[in-house]
Amino acid sequence: MTQDRRHFLQIALTAPIIALASGRALAQGAVCYDPEDLPLPQQNVRKSVQFQEVSNIPAKRCELCAFFTPSQGGCGSCQILNGPTTARSLCSSFAAKAK
Ligand code: SF4
Repeated sequence: MTQDRRHFLQIALTAPIIALASGRALAQGAVCYDPEDLPLPQQNVRKSVQFQEVSNIPAKRCELCAFFTPSQGGCGSCQILNGPTTARSLCSSFAAKAK
C-alpha cells in the first residue's frame, strides 16, 4: 500500500468520527448545521425547549411536527427555533401535524 493511499484511508475512516465528536447535527449522513456555529439566541432557545439532536421518542420527531419545514437530506427548519433542525430531532414544543 502506498503512503498516499494509506493517508487517504486514514482520513476517510476518521472523518465521520471527528464530525460526530464535534457535535455536528447529522441526518441521514448529511451535515445539516453545526450547533456550535449557531448564534447565541438560537442556542438559548434550544436550551429553553430542551432540544435533542436525536429524539428519544420514535413517534415524536421534527419531521412529524407542525413547525417543521423539510429541505434536503433529512434537514429542515423550525418556526419555534427560528433556525435549522433535523428530521429526527425533538423539543418540548412538539405539536403533531394535522392528519
Ligand atoms: S417545535 Fe420542536 S419538535 Fe417541532 S420542529 Fe421545532 S424543534 Fe422539532
